[in-house]
Amino acid sequence: MEPGELASVLDAIGDGVYVVDPRRHITYWNSGAERLTGYTPAEAVGRWCGDGMLNHVDEVGESICGTRCPLQETMNDGERRECRVYLHHKDGYVVPVRVAATPVRDAAGTITGAVEVFVDDTEQRQARRQADQLATLALTDHLSGLGNRAYLDRVLEERLRAARGAGGTFGVLFVDVDHFKRVNDEHGHAVGDRLIRVLGTTLARNVRPGDQVARYGGEEFVVVANATGVADLVTLAERLRMLIRQSGVSVPEGRVGVTVSVGVAMAAAGDTAAMVLDRADRRLLAAKRAGRDRTVDGDGALPPA
Ligand code: GH3
Ligand code: MG
Ligand code: MG
Repeated sequence: MEPGELASVLDAIGDGVYVVDPRRHITYWNSGAERLTGYTPAEAVGRWCGDGMLNHVDEVGESICGTRCPLQETMNDGERRECRVYLHHKDGYVVPVRVAATPVRDAAGTITGAVEVFVDDTEQRQARRQADQLATLALTDHLSGLGNRAYLDRVLEERLRAARGAGGTFGVLFVDVDHFKRVNDEHGHAVGDRLIRVLGTTLARNVRPGDQVARYGGEEFVVVANATGVADLVTLAERLRMLIRQSGVSVPEGRVGVTVSVGVAMAAAGDTAAMVLDRADRRLLAAKRAGRDRTVDGDGALPPA
């Protein structure tokens, strides 16, 4: 096959595929990689993959590009490896991906580079189907594309009905952006709006299957999540908090990012939707009072209602 033919074959694959040389400069970038990252081949080819363009991070938000790059490791030992990481989309949100790195060898068997194949690890189809349903039912928030307040009410009512008043099967995360007024004041409302969209996308792409995300209002989001206990919710909250910290929008002066505070609450026996939301909201307030950029669960002392 000729190189041109090979390229069209690789473009026919939905997965992202890119190739680096031994110095980890990108030499090939297929259309799947463009679709998943937002970067065109013209933007990607020639760049060093460790320069922060994709900035792969691990579960705790640490960049792996410097010291734990799977492409570098696969070129070092010749072994194929797979991992789950998060990459930064050009638009600013964070996408979970499954990555496989394999060495590229010439006819003599010498390693001449490495190829990365990556696939979106979001429950994409589920999210899209859900978005279509929401649009037809006027349950969509137009800025973020997430469910709106009416959607949240509906989700909570359904969940409470399914739990038949027993509680203990799900909970909520109340997420509020820290010092969001400053973003508007320093960069204008258009940048604030873009950031709300980016944060909403990071949340929607990174909750677990079956969890739901709504924009409660302003710069406040609520995640309704399956959970067996508060520890489950805290784990989810901390991962989402880390991913939001990794998200941001580009402005002429650089990158605008934010932190969030989160209040979590499990649904308890006899709860109404308002009751579980109110508990999470009060813990959110406690997180703000304790200095922001943190999650507060039910164990700490609550401020007076
Ligand atoms: P903190 O929560 O940490 O106490 O500080 P904050 O600055 O985020 O304060 P608060 O949550 O009370 O205010 C949120 C601000 O978010 C108020 C408003 O200027 C801004 N905001 C709300 N909705 C939108 C929106 O749709 N677009 C933009 N650009 N800004 C919004
Ligand atoms: Mg707020
Ligand atoms: Mg706020």
